[in-house]
Amino acid sequence: DEAAKEGLRCATFDPATLEDAQWKLSLLGRLDQAIERGEIWVAYQPKIDLANDRIIGAEALARWKHPEKGEIFPSQFIVAAERSGRIENLTAHVLDSAVGLAARINRSGYTFSIAVNLSARLLDKPGLIGMVEQTLARHALPAGLLILEVTETTAMASQSESFANLERLSAMGVQLSIDDYGTGLSTLEYLKKIPAGEIKIDRSFVGMLDKSQGDRIMVHSTIQLAHSLGRKVVAEGVENAATLAELRRMQCDFVQGYHTGRPMPAPALINQLPVNARETAA
Ligand code: C2E
Ligand code: MG
Ligand code: MG
Ligand code: MG
Repeated sequence: DEAAKEGLRCATFDPATLEDAQWKLSLLGRLDQAIERGEIWVAYQPKIDLANDRIIGAEALARWKHPEKGEIFPSQFIVAAERSGRIENLTAHVLDSAVGLAARINRSGYTFSIAVNLSARLLDKPGLIGMVEQTLARHALPAGLLILEVTETTAMASQSESFANLERLSAMGVQLSIDDYGTGLSTLEYLKKIPAGEIKIDRSFVGMLDKSQGDRIMVHSTIQLAHSLGRKVVAEGVENAATLAELRRMQCDFVQGYHTGRPMPAPALINQLPVNARETAA
């Protein structure tokens, strides 16, 4: 029966699992130091406005340049950071870099918004609002140029403290975006409740758009639904020209993806901006 199977599984020595567990533990132990040592850096993925094909902003994505293991992606350390209470530090660091970059670019007169991923674990933290306020003030970035991306995968909309924080952020003028839209548990309820001006359609619906009629129907009707509710739409994971063309036909507002720009270091992103913005931001 199940219990016996469970016992059997526990008794089986699996060196790969042990190695994996040890690796995760050692990673976590290094995470705080990693921030102090400057090993955590931020990659920026351009966000393109389909109305004029210009870079309207970027999404900040955390990267860890480990001295021995090389580049480590967020899938390896975000969940661990959330569970161990280190996500606040990490987010403060990413937010500071991202807001700083956006402030420098905007000083040139080029309007540029910056999107930062916000863990659901942080949403009910009382320190969140202060952290956002202080970061914006430190770099003198108008709140409206910061977008915080939240996912719908947790039931946080029903948690009053999280919801109150979202309302506070919104009242400050910070923009909210629903990330990975379509993959969560309560998509429509979320759309109704959260004061988000934008949704990001998950790349699992966008990636096969050029080949799948079903995905085309879902994406198109999602765009229409969002628009009729007054929301803007970002398609994430745009990997080829055919997908981009489809999204244009569907009146999608913004795109992100390997086809229009991979996540890249700040200097590379700045290099893609018009020359006067480039000179001020560098
Ligand atoms: P996300 O916010 O949905 O970010 C989009 C992910 O898709 C990024 O992965 C990006 O590199 C990847 N991507 C972009 N365009 C394409 C494409 O055309 N094709 C494919 N296959 N992938 C594409 P990344 O950077 O590995 O980040 C994974 C997730 O980790 C993010 O998903 C986000 O949820 C989380 N994350 C990243 N940075 C942070 C952070 O600073 N704080 C928090 N809380 N979470 C973060
Ligand atoms: Mg995101
Ligand atoms: Mg996403
Ligand atoms: Mg995602």
